[in-house]
Amino acid sequence: LLLHGSVFHVTASPLPGGGAVVVLRDTTRFEAVERQQRDFVANVSHELRTPLTSIVGYVETVLDTEPLSPAANEFLETVLKNASRMHRLTEDLLMLAKVERGDVILDPLPISAELLVRDALRTVSGAPYAEDAKLEIGEATEQRVMADEHAVLQVLGNLLENALKYSSGMERIPHVVVSARSLEDSVQFSVRDFGPGIASEHLPRLFERFYRVEKARSREKGGTGLGLSIAKQLIEQHGGRIWVESELGKGSTFLFTLPLAS
Ligand code: ADP
Repeated sequence: LLLHGSVFHVTASPLPGGGAVVVLRDTTRFEAVERQQRDFVANVSHELRTPLTSIVGYVETVLDTEPLSPAANEFLETVLKNASRMHRLTEDLLMLAKVERGDVILDPLPISAELLVRDALRTVSGAPYAEDAKLEIGEATEQRVMADEHAVLQVLGNLLENALKYSSGMERIPHVVVSARSLEDSVQFSVRDFGPGIASEHLPRLFERFYRVEKARSREKGGTGLGLSIAKQLIEQHGGRIWVESELGKGSTFLFTLPLAS
């Protein structure tokens, strides 16, 4: 509720004998501080982007062209790994700031759900983390959904990458099944893995910015902790919903819906 430039959060609870209690909470300051924080993060990310691109570029060139001692080579590889990680982080932060501000203009058009699934699998199967993995399509409806192809492929790519990354290093080779099932007025996409699974206490917070179940493991796998929050924003902007079902030791299924094209 917006009143004379102030933002109020309103809740109403009915009373047993009739009537209701209405609580108005003035959240103007809270919203302003949150917006300032977001703008600050976006500005810093933006400022870091150019110098980081330059560091990554020069280090790559030196590694490719100069004869180096083994020690220098090793140190530069470490510089490159860390600078690339920072670069990824700034890119993700900028993307998140953009979707949260509504600056990512989506262009949803009718597209076959099966096509989206096939394209996502094709892109991911060439990536290094997909080597030796079993990637399968389960059920895949040809129903058309309203989707911004680029954005939905980004979401599917992120879910697939996570499924493969987090189930690698176990006894079995990573196995991922992607499906698209037709519901009444939407299509439900799912990415299922048979990896480590996620304990139930983490599930409600998984789509929050920077939330990671095991920080060290995620970092070691090149994660920034932002992929799922970006995915959530993109799916919700399509009018869809995204969630996760998981059981420790059994694997995880990430699901999202997209509205049917009429
Ligand atoms: P990250 O960049 O760390 O992968 P995400 O936002 O994509 O960030 O995911 C958040 C966290 O959720 C991850 O750090 C990981 O702990 C957990 N996670 C995501 N997908 C899976 C999965 N398929 N299996 C197990 N854990 C997962």
